[in-house]
Amino acid sequence: MPFDLVLTGGRVIDPTQGLNAEMDIGIAGDRIAQLGPRLDTAGCPDVREVSGLCVCAGLVDLHGHWYEGNLYGIDPALCINTGVTTAVDAGSTGYANFPEFSRTVLDSAPAEVLAFVHISFMGLHAPYAEELLDLRYARPVETAQVIAAHPGRAVGVKVRVGSMTGNHGIAALEQALAAARDASVPIMVHISRGAPEAEILCRLRSGDILTHCFHGRDNRMITEAVIPEALEARERGVWFDVGHGCGSFSWDAARRAFEHHFYPDAISTDLHRYAAPEPLCVTLPAVMSKMLCLGMSLEDTILKTTLTPARILKRDEEIGSLRPGSRADVFVFDVESGDFAFTDTHLKVRKGDRKIVPRLTVRGGAAHLAGSLPVRFRPLYDSDAEVFRAIG
Ligand SMILES: [Zn+2]
Repeated sequence: MPFDLVLTGGRVIDPTQGLNAEMDIGIAGDRIAQLGPRLDTAGCPDVREVSGLCVCAGLVDLHGHWYEGNLYGIDPALCINTGVTTAVDAGSTGYANFPEFSRTVLDSAPAEVLAFVHISFMGLHAPYAEELLDLRYARPVETAQVIAAHPGRAVGVKVRVGSMTGNHGIAALEQALAAARDASVPIMVHISRGAPEAEILCRLRSGDILTHCFHGRDNRMITEAVIPEALEARERGVWFDVGHGCGSFSWDAARRAFEHHFYPDAISTDLHRYAAPEPLCVTLPAVMSKMLCLGMSLEDTILKTTLTPARILKRDEEIGSLRPGSRADVFVFDVESGDFAFTDTHLKVRKGDRKIVPRLTVRGGAAHLAGSLPVRFRPLYDSDAEVFRAIG
C-alpha cells in the first residue's frame, strides 16, 4: 500500500522511541504508518523534503483559551499555525456554556480541542469581573454532570485561586475537588498572586495539575528553594505546568526552580486574547525556546510538549508520539541559531542562541504550512488596555 504523505530526510526526534536520527515518516490515512531511513515513496501523491529540519509528534498544549464567548478566548486556528495538534481549553466555560462551546468550537476546530470545565457556572468572563468573587457561582453538582455527559472531550475541572477568589481562600478549590471526585477526573488549579500555594499543594491528588508554577508574583512555592509541599505533591503524582500567559512566567522563578532540579512536567502557553499580541507574542514554540534558553535540552522540551501532556490527558496511546499506529499528528520545525532576546511576563529580557521556528503541521494526516490558516481576533476595547498595562 503506498503512503498518502511522506516526510523525507528530517531529523526525527521522538523520546518515546529513543529516536534522534535522520529518517523518513510514512503516513497512511490519519495514521503514522512507518518510520525508516529510506521509505519507498512510489505511488505516494505527496512527498515533502524536510531535510535540515526537525520532526517531532504534533504538540499538545495543555493550557489555552479557545472560547470566543468571553474576553479571553481566541481562535484555535492559531494552534495549527504553530505546530499544536491537540489543545486543551483550561476552563474558559462552565457547565452553563460548555455545551454551546462544544457544539460551536470543539466539533469543528482545525486542531483537536479538549476542555477542563470551570467550577464557576459561566467559566471565565472578563479581567474586571472575575468568575469566583461570588462563591454562589461555584457549582460542583452541575459541573460533574456536564463532564459525565461529554466523555473524552470534557477532561477535568478548572479552578483559579488568587485575586479572583476574593477572600474566600480555598473554598472554591474544595468545590472543584468535589466535582472532580464525582466525575472521576483531575482538576487543574491556577495559582497567582495571593494564592496559598502550600495549602493548595497539600489538597491536590495524583493526576491533578498545578498550572502557572513559575508565575513569579510572590510565588510562595519557590522561595530560595522549592517548598517541601511541592516536592511531596510531585512525589504523590501531581503534575506541574508552565501556563505562560500574560502574567504567569518569570525567568527568576523558573531559574531558581531549575537550580533545585525542579522542572515543569508540561510546557504550555495559556494562550488567550491578551497573551497573543505584542509585547509577549506567546506561542508554544516560543515558550519551548524559552526553556532552551534556561538550559533544557531540545529532547526534554519536546517530551514536555508531546508525550507528557498526552499522558496527563491519558491519551498517550493515540497522541504524543510518532509510533506507527498513532494518529498522524506531526510538527516540522527549524532550530535557528543566532542572538535572540526572549521576554518573560515581567518584561525581563534574557538572551538565547536558539529559537524554534514552525514550518509545517500535520494533523490527522492533513498537512498545513506554518501560518497558513487565517486567524480571527476579536477587536480590542479601551478597557483591554488596562490588562496590557498590568503586564510587567
Ligand atoms: Zn489560563
